[in-house]
Amino acid sequence: MSLRIAVTGCGPAGLATAIMLSGQGHQVTLFERFASPRPIGSGIILQPTGLAVLRELGLNDEIHTLGRRIDRIHGVSMPSHRQVLNVDYSVLGDDYHGLAVHRAALFDVLYDKAQGCDLTILNNVDVQDVACSDQAIAVVDRNHERHGAFDIVVDASGAGTRLRSHAVHPTRLRELAYGALWGAFDWPDANFDSSTLEQRYVGAHTMIGVLPIGRHAGIANDQVAFFWSIKTRDQERWLRDGLESWKSSVMAIWPETHVILDQITAASDMALASYGHCTLRTPFGHRIAFLGDAAHSTSPQLGQGANMALLDAWTLSKALEQCKDVQTALTTYAASRRWHVRAFQAASLALTPFYQSDSRVLALLRDGLFDPVAKLPIARRIVAGLISGMLGRLPRGLRV
Ligand SMILES: Cc1cc2nc3c(=O)[nH]c(=O)nc-3n(C[C@H](O)[C@H](O)[C@H](O)COP(=O)(O)OP(=O)(O)OC[C@H]3O[C@@H](n4cnc5c(N)ncnc54)[C@H](O)[C@@H]3O)c2cc1C
Repeated sequence: MSLRIAVTGCGPAGLATAIMLSGQGHQVTLFERFASPRPIGSGIILQPTGLAVLRELGLNDEIHTLGRRIDRIHGVSMPSHRQVLNVDYSVLGDDYHGLAVHRAALFDVLYDKAQGCDLTILNNVDVQDVACSDQAIAVVDRNHERHGAFDIVVDASGAGTRLRSHAVHPTRLRELAYGALWGAFDWPDANFDSSTLEQRYVGAHTMIGVLPIGRHAGIANDQVAFFWSIKTRDQERWLRDGLESWKSSVMAIWPETHVILDQITAASDMALASYGHCTLRTPFGHRIAFLGDAAHSTSPQLGQGANMALLDAWTLSKALEQCKDVQTALTTYAASRRWHVRAFQAASLALTPFYQSDSRVLALLRDGLFDPVAKLPIARRIVAGLISGMLGRLPRGLRV
């Protein structure tokens, strides 16, 4: 069947879905709210799951040329210097690794591919609603203008989607108290290992991260993503206190970061990312499917969001290819993703407060228990599976 399909959002979920569905011969229209689509944020880790989908899209070489291979995730509690997290991808097998990329790099490879596909990209359309009849569905923008008729809408407009009320069981996004300040800077050749995500924690209220993320089209030098955990409501105070006072606090915890801090010359070099948690029990409605953060958003503590978005895109496109009608395809998509999504959303909800909360007890438990438990052989595999996205049932047919 050849369907008329609207996809909302030019993030990883929307772009990957649009590429795959246009490749299957559907008439795809991709809507983006920005006048010219652009990525927001600095660095993300692509896990073996997300990399498998990019390989299916023929983008393996492009993304590996830009990104940085990550073999290890390492976290240390301060000031005790006690190791809390030490996850090595090689526990899963020699071929497994993460790939840290600048968000712009992931966006560019997907967007370039989408532009070469037989699909329509409509920018500057802020999708606020859909209007559905038995025969078709239309997209409604901020100016109440209708676009379509389509056979199906694929909502990939992220955590802030306005369309969740059209899901079978609508669920509201719960904002999390903690977010993070993020920035991308030149990779400092000294002091850090270029294949490790390195983190430092003080209690659960402070977390600092250094992630090598490679290059993207606009930047010749390798980059590093640097992040500082903060309550979103404290951003004003952070601005008032001034950069120098903040840099002193960071240096007191992790002196080696001076090679990155020296590059931060204005508060605007660090952008605030806020997080929310929401899982749609049934990620579809009548003629509408929800993918990526629109279906399941959470804090990025486990680093799975973009990878899950890519898995969703692959699963939905396979369901539409294999099922004889739209509603069966939507049910099949939801069933295929159910357990993987639920497992990671639950794990993220349970683990995030150990790293981002005001709880002293959780920080003490983390510092005392996580490392010894993770050294048990079975636990090592579970933790590696959790970090790599490979716990739970992965979509059938995808070679990870
Ligand atoms: C600081 C931070 C670090 C992260 N680190 C990682 C990591 O290491 N690994 C990982 O896998 N994930 C990570 N994530 C999560 C990851 O970024 C998201 O899960 C992922 O981007 C979700 O992809 P998406 O396509 O569903 O949504 P998004 O990337 O949010 O894309 C949504 C798109 O829809 C567009 N849009 C929004 N509203 C509308 C509208 N009304 N009309 C039309 N278009 C609209 C947006 O402009 C955007 O282009 C991180 C997130 C943050 C904030």
